[in-house]
Amino acid sequence: MEGVSDPRRTVLVVEDEKNIRDLVCLHLGVEGLTCTAVGSGTEALELLNQQRFDLVVLDLMLPGLDGLSVCRAVRRGTTNRDVPILMLTARREEADKVLGLESGADDYLSKPFGVRELVARVRAMLRRRPLVGLADGDGQPPVVYKHIEMDPARRRVRVGSREVELTTQEFNLLYVLLSRPGIVFSRDALLSRTWKESTFVTVRSVDTLVKRLRKKIEEDPANPAVILTVWGSGYKAADV
Ligand code: CA
Repeated sequence: MEGVSDPRRTVLVVEDEKNIRDLVCLHLGVEGLTCTAVGSGTEALELLNQQRFDLVVLDLMLPGLDGLSVCRAVRRGTTNRDVPILMLTARREEADKVLGLESGADDYLSKPFGVRELVARVRAMLRRRPLVGLADGDGQPPVVYKHIEMDPARRRVRVGSREVELTTQEFNLLYVLLSRPGIVFSRDALLSRTWKESTFVTVRSVDTLVKRLRKKIEEDPANPAVILTVWGSGYKAADV
């Protein structure tokens, strides 16, 4: 895989406090990444609808459109639906909301944070992700999760040495989960990402879909090792 420090890697930094914005860009620049910085949620969303980024550093508290709203809008859109999002929060207590079941953020840092920690998080998030500019097909990169390989461009899934046939919805759901191991997704979040435009489905459909998927990909569907139920919350792919 291509290196993490590659100027073709583009990071969007969304932060209304100029000092923090400059600091983040400076240090990601030192890491060899190309940064674009904006100070509001509206500007961020505009850019995120136009061009693909490898990562977004997104402040939670922004004037006008806040970080959570930007996050949700990005996940429902098409251009950067799968972009890793690192949320900046003012307080640790906000983290729950952020990592959130609903928002779709992948990780968070509470302020004040050390530069080294920021860089470490960003590197970890990028390591799992091929360069977006090099992704083929409709732009979604392939995902390798343990013994499962997903290739969105060819709509192919391999479980070990076995090729598995999935419906579009099954594929979308599995792709969302395996792209972010350990992250809990609510049924609502999975619904909006799996069916996108369709309005005739309910959150129950997600349970049905998970059941079908488990039969196709789990060694023992009654004791799943890949798609785990998180009681009261939703589903996640087991940590790797
Ligand atoms: Ca702020």
